[in-house]
Amino acid sequence: MKFRIEDLKLILRRPFETAHGRVTSRTSVVLSIEDDGAEGTGEAAACDYLKQTPEFSSAALAEMEAFVLPDALELDETLKALEEHFPDNPAARCAVDVALHDLVSKKLGIPLYRYFGLSAGEARKTSFTIGIDSLEKVAEKVEEAGEYSILKVKLGSRDDMDIIRRVRDLTEQTIRVDANAAWCYEEAVSKMKVLAELGVEFVEQPLGRGDIEGHARLKADAILPIILDESVQTSRDIPLFAAGCDGINIKLTKCGGLREATRMISTARAFGLKVMLGCMIESSIGITAAAHLSGLADYLDLDGNLLIANDPFHGVISAYGEMLLPSRPGLGLIDAYEAHDFGG
Ligand SMILES: [Mg+2]
Repeated sequence: MKFRIEDLKLILRRPFETAHGRVTSRTSVVLSIEDDGAEGTGEAAACDYLKQTPEFSSAALAEMEAFVLPDALELDETLKALEEHFPDNPAARCAVDVALHDLVSKKLGIPLYRYFGLSAGEARKTSFTIGIDSLEKVAEKVEEAGEYSILKVKLGSRDDMDIIRRVRDLTEQTIRVDANAAWCYEEAVSKMKVLAELGVEFVEQPLGRGDIEGHARLKADAILPIILDESVQTSRDIPLFAAGCDGINIKLTKCGGLREATRMISTARAFGLKVMLGCMIESSIGITAAAHLSGLADYLDLDGNLLIANDPFHGVISAYGEMLLPSRPGLGLIDAYEAHDFGG
């Protein structure tokens, strides 16, 4: 089995701002694993708050090659060894995990969702994210996002209430809010009361990442459902925060890939929690991988590829916010140029 590791600079259609900062491009690391004429592809997306830089992920991937067992079907053993030796590299482990799942399901001749015992099912809706911006820019973005029936609005600035009132004035779409850990408890209580009046569906990560007690108090206040993202990286974090949320946001980049994501889903269900599948800013490689698990989720927030202008692949198709899984073997990715030739 042979690794090919390449940087992929993703140019954003518009600058994107959250409570974590503002960016105009992101660099992912793309991993291709070649085995016996078949190829699997995975992506290590960048994530600043988890210190997953492209340099950090590339260096780890180069070392990980030696840990991959010769039989791709023994991917569980390979991934266990990577977890043990590279605990601080979830993004790089995710690239290997996704590439091996792509490879194995291609060898089996089935789409990845079938490997997990799932069906393509009916098209599932993803939310579309509106980043933090001036009121005028937010209004423009809401207008552009007219085809999506669910908006996820990033808050966590001084203008939070002006932004959300403006969005509500402009649209009847379902609104979800993500505060990205920016509020203190008192601020969260007062803001969530307004959000509830405006018909917001739920709020994601209102308080700081480690605030177990604050989130438990906030959940007991029962103002709005709470989904935790930054607080919950892997299945091991779920018992700690289960009393402080109604659901969790699972991202392949932070948990280390599809295998840990399915463990997180089982753990969340054991605590009676809802499951959201989320993403970083990443290409159709990472988004399509997560979308293959969509049959196991309650909410999808898989729009990272829609925010970029130069996605090199076509995989899951998002038409008017409805996600359609490819029926080709593996992830079902095709080169964006080829897709263009086919009129796809
Ligand atoms: Mg979030």
